[in-house]
Amino acid sequence: MTHAGSDAVSYARHHGGKTAAESGDRIVWVKLSLAFLPLATPVSDAKVLTGRQKPLTEVAIIFAELQTRDGFTGVGFSYSKRAGGQGIYAHACELADALLGEDPNDISKIYTKLLWAGASVGRSGMAVQAISPFDIALWDMKARRAGLPLAKLFGAHRDSVQCYNTSGGFLHTPLDQVLKNVAISRDNGIGGIKIKVGQPDTAEDLRRLSAVRQALGDDFPLMVDANQQWDRETAIRMGRKMEAFNLVWIEEPLDAYDVEGHAALASALDTPIATGEMLTSFREHEQLILGHASDVVQPDAPRVGGITPFLQIMDLAARHGRKLAPHFAMEIHLHLAAAYPIEPWLEHFEWLNPLFNEQLELRDGRMWISDRPGLGFSLSEQARKWTVLTSETGQRP
Ligand SMILES: [Mg+2]
Repeated sequence: MTHAGSDAVSYARHHGGKTAAESGDRIVWVKLSLAFLPLATPVSDAKVLTGRQKPLTEVAIIFAELQTRDGFTGVGFSYSKRAGGQGIYAHACELADALLGEDPNDISKIYTKLLWAGASVGRSGMAVQAISPFDIALWDMKARRAGLPLAKLFGAHRDSVQCYNTSGGFLHTPLDQVLKNVAISRDNGIGGIKIKVGQPDTAEDLRRLSAVRQALGDDFPLMVDANQQWDRETAIRMGRKMEAFNLVWIEEPLDAYDVEGHAALASALDTPIATGEMLTSFREHEQLILGHASDVVQPDAPRVGGITPFLQIMDLAARHGRKLAPHFAMEIHLHLAAAYPIEPWLEHFEWLNPLFNEQLELRDGRMWISDRPGLGFSLSEQARKWTVLTSETGQRP
């Protein structure tokens, strides 16, 4: 018997005597939900201090729940900060029918089908952010079906990922409170701290950074994030001043689409440059990577259209020797970062915790993969309470 034959027999033993190909399992039910997650305090980064955005008060979450005829389930989500959540939800509702009757294992086929269904609105941005919840739910289902955490389905390089905290160092937070937050995060086992910079008063940025570095000591991993608010001249001047702070990286020093500017900065500074969180497709990340625009790439699976394009970005980034630090959504990115060949960083945000019944484990500076299959999350009652719109397609078996 061939090795493939043995696998087929083993699969059949667990699935009513049928192989995956013979089972004919199909997606029969799709549910979409739009929820608004409120934040305890309005949040400001440099985009608010330069007057470009209002403080963030809530996050729109678009959930997809899938079920197959044989009873397999999957959950995925996309999100939007400030505007866009209603649009993503509306477009996802238009696409949902296309999943019915498909074999959930054929994720690439389904992805292409959904892309063509919405081809008129493009292959980036909101158009693909409406595909993300489906794609993420399909990967979750595939791993649940295999009885594996998603990281193991991909082929993990590690069981845990070094993890840094962002939420304690925003610009609406006074420095004395930032220093308290830093101490609490450290006591809770965080492996690194990131603070926001990029405000119009650059001296204030340096004052806050200096105080945090002093509190942490010279070697504790520390990053800064300017949220795209410097011009090229300010970025190089600030970058040079910040070389003394032994930073892990300087994040989004320039406009997210300024490939040339980022490349010049990355080449001029010893401190690594990180960017990519605002990009919304594989193609945009390809320009960044091939343009030598960053040392650390920061894709975001919900934002780029799901796990399927994220895996393509990982592959390209790894082949070009870049580091990986995915943006936000640690619930998804833990699994992807664990499968990256070069030691990555995971961004810790506690904001989404109330949406799920399960929580991730932070210990010894790292976030650990649980033994729960798939992404390892189920939606909480609180997530249902924050839901304002739902739409169901097909029949739940
Ligand atoms: Mg950032």
